[in-house]
Amino acid sequence: MTNFEVRQYDAAGRLGELTVPRAGVTVETPTILPVVNPHVQTVAPATLASEFGAEILITNSYILHGSDDLREPVLEQGLHDLLGFDGAIMTDSGSFQLAEYGDIDVTTEEILEFQHEIGSDIGTPVDIPTPPDVDRERATEELKTTQERLEHAATVDTGEMLVSAPVQGATYPDLRERAAADAVSTGLDVFPLGAVVPLMNEYRYADLADVVAACKRGLGEVGPVHLFGAGHPMMFAMAAALGCDLFDSAAYALYARDDRYLTVQGTELLDELSYFPCHCPVCTDHTPAELDAMDADQREELLARHNLHVTYGEIRTVKQAIRSGNLMELVDSRARGHPAMLDGFRALLDHAEQLERTDPVSKDAFFYTSHESARRPEVRRHQDRLERLPVEGDEVLLTEGSSSAQYDESWGVLPPFGPYPRELADTYPLTAEVPDRTDRAAYEAAATGVRRLVELHPDVSFTLVHDDWPATALDRVPERVRLRDLHARD
Ligand SMILES: [Zn+2]
Repeated sequence: MTNFEVRQYDAAGRLGELTVPRAGVTVETPTILPVVNPHVQTVAPATLASEFGAEILITNSYILHGSDDLREPVLEQGLHDLLGFDGAIMTDSGSFQLAEYGDIDVTTEEILEFQHEIGSDIGTPVDIPTPPDVDRERATEELKTTQERLEHAATVDTGEMLVSAPVQGATYPDLRERAAADAVSTGLDVFPLGAVVPLMNEYRYADLADVVAACKRGLGEVGPVHLFGAGHPMMFAMAAALGCDLFDSAAYALYARDDRYLTVQGTELLDELSYFPCHCPVCTDHTPAELDAMDADQREELLARHNLHVTYGEIRTVKQAIRSGNLMELVDSRARGHPAMLDGFRALLDHAEQLERTDPVSKDAFFYTSHESARRPEVRRHQDRLERLPVEGDEVLLTEGSSSAQYDESWGVLPPFGPYPRELADTYPLTAEVPDRTDRAAYEAAATGVRRLVELHPDVSFTLVHDDWPATALDRVPERVRLRDLHARD
């Protein structure tokens, strides 16, 4: 894949550049593609570009194809003129309508050719969006059809138009992983992860994390990866940390229609707000009461603008976090917005080993911001690295405090990482900022590190100065380690 380049990683999150040859533009990722309904434009595409900096948007070619009033104009003028947008335009195929209504009346070849004819920059074949939780037989069967269509799509002449290869497989991780590998093998360009909207609608963020992680295992580091239908800013950080590059959503407009107000922590109802917790032009120029008193159209437009400001603001926040190397701290902070997001964060950490593969070896800082930090990829990496660090002495002291001449060798101990040679004290991640009131999870993780080191050196005698480590941590330390508690009286 030469149309996508990664500039920087944090966890599995990527700052990247997607070159869209037909539009003659390069789009910086992660980014959001606002969904533009060709019939109802709450915010005009030209405004999306000028006011919000939109470089790419998505619209539905199936609606245009079937529309009595737009089909001819779009074929005549082309999509960019019709919508009044110079940037990149991706088109969806009608798979969503297939999922909603069970039937559509175009083939992959027809809809791809139509997308090409109207000037789409990224086209989409008609895949089968298999919903979560269906039986395995159905998921497998539908996947087979999707893969046949993707393979067929790869043979359709679409010129410079990029073509996406949606990844399905419902909630079966092994099917998702295989579907992703098969999608890559087609040689198509963009990889949407399909049929995840029901998971997001039901706040099943843990299941979402597992699905994304499974797809990423099959995709490897090709890209870009598009989380289809994901548009709530509260989950951008988490999805980006798992390796998603593109989001799309009509949420900004649909929520505005129902007087719903997006924040990075969740959704508020306009009539329950006395104050706007936001610095965008809409929120600094108006109060909730003023918006409430407006006529519905004006209120909808202003709410849509606020929703877009929050959405693009969070995209910039995610990009800066990747650049600064503190994306995991951002995910941690966003996870506090809703218990279901916390489930998502914890599920993401189940995949720490996978995230570790692309996580930079060195960053500016590691902030221990919650007990979930004890499960971050850096902790796992440090403990894996113990295998390569020599132990020279026969009597080795492990201590959070200073070394002692009574021992041949003295290692430092830092929760949550565990033991480390003192010469590494100034290297990442051992430069981590950890609160003085350390929690049990950090001690338990440190004890896991101690156990690992001790098991690697069966002939060495270890002493651990553990101060006031909790019993659940000490339970993890092998019995042959001598324990010294400096706080206890001998
Ligand atoms: Zn606002």
